[in-house]
Amino acid sequence: MKRSDTLVIIPPVAVSRLKQQAKKRQRETGRPHHELLDEVAKEAGFNHWHQVAEAVEYTRQAEQRFRSGLYVLMDIKEGLDLVGDDFDHAPDALALRYQFIFDWMKSISSDVDDDRPLSAEEFQEAINDDYVLLRYTGDGRLPSKGKATEWFREHSFWAPSILWVRGEHLFPMESARPEEEEGDESDSDEEEHLDREDEPMPVIDEALLKSAFGSPGKAKLILNAETMERFEIIASRKRAWYWCLHCERAYPQGSYRQRGSLQMCPYSGCGGDTVMDAWSWARVAKENPGYPATPELGKAYPLYGSSQPA
Ligand SMILES: [Zn+2]
Repeated sequence: MKRSDTLVIIPPVAVSRLKQQAKKRQRETGRPHHELLDEVAKEAGFNHWHQVAEAVEYTRQAEQRFRSGLYVLMDIKEGLDLVGDDFDHAPDALALRYQFIFDWMKSISSDVDDDRPLSAEEFQEAINDDYVLLRYTGDGRLPSKGKATEWFREHSFWAPSILWVRGEHLFPMESARPEEEEGDESDSDEEEHLDREDEPMPVIDEALLKSAFGSPGKAKLILNAETMERFEIIASRKRAWYWCLHCERAYPQGSYRQRGSLQMCPYSGCGGDTVMDAWSWARVAKENPGYPATPELGKAYPLYGSSQPA
C-alpha cells in the first residue's frame, strides 16, 4: 500500500485498528484523543489523521466505482494484451478485493499442495508477477451477470480467472477447474463446503433485538429484512451472523439502521456500515477458538479477544 499521498485504499479493519490503538492510549495516558489519532496515523505512515479520513472517503468512492463497473482478473500474459482502448489497469480494485482474491488463490493452490496453505508472501508474488486486474473502460454497455462471460469472449480469446460485473463476481473458468468436492471430510473441506452455502436468517424476537440495538436515532431500524445491500454488493454467501469492525458486536443477518442511502450497523450510535465494515461471525470465531458459534447480542468481541493482542 502506497501511503505517501492521500489516494490510498485503506481497509476498514485497518482504520478500526488505528482507532482502537488511539482509544487504548487515551485510557492509559489521558492525552487528547485527536492528538493520539494523529500519532497512530503517523506511525502507520500517514502524515496525520485527516489523511486517514481522506483515504476512507477515497476507498468508499473506489468501492462505488467498482460496484458500477466491470473488472477482470487475468493471467498476466493474456491480460496485458487487452490494455489499451477498452481495458486499463485497476490497482484500486486489486486493493479493494485483495482478501477475496487471496482466498480464491488459496482455494485453487490447495489442489497442488495439501499440507501448507498459500502464504501472504507467495500471494503477493503471484499477484505481482502472474496476474493483472483490469477495468473495462470502453463505451459499451455492461452485460448482465449471466451474459458476462459471453460478452467478454468478444473482447478476448482468453477467459479471465475472475470477472466482476457491478460488484458481483463470477469464475468463467470454473468448469475447467478440477472439482474440489471429492476427498476426505477434513475440517477445511467442511469449511469450504460451508462457504458455498447461504446460511438461514436467524429468527429472533423483535423486542429482544430492539432492546439490544437501542434507539436508532434519526435512522430507521430494519429487522429481519432480506434487503441488506451487502448481498448485492459483495455478492458473498449469506451468513447468519455478522460482526461489526467498528463496535465489535455481532448482529443477525437482515438487521441494520437505514440512514439515508446507507445501511449502518444496527447498534445505536455505531458508525460502521453493513457492507465494508461487516465481517462474517464465522470468520471472527475462527480466529478466536474461545468464541461461541452463536454470538451474544450486545456483547463486544475483540478481534483478537481470546489470544494475543493485535
Ligand atoms: Zn457496529
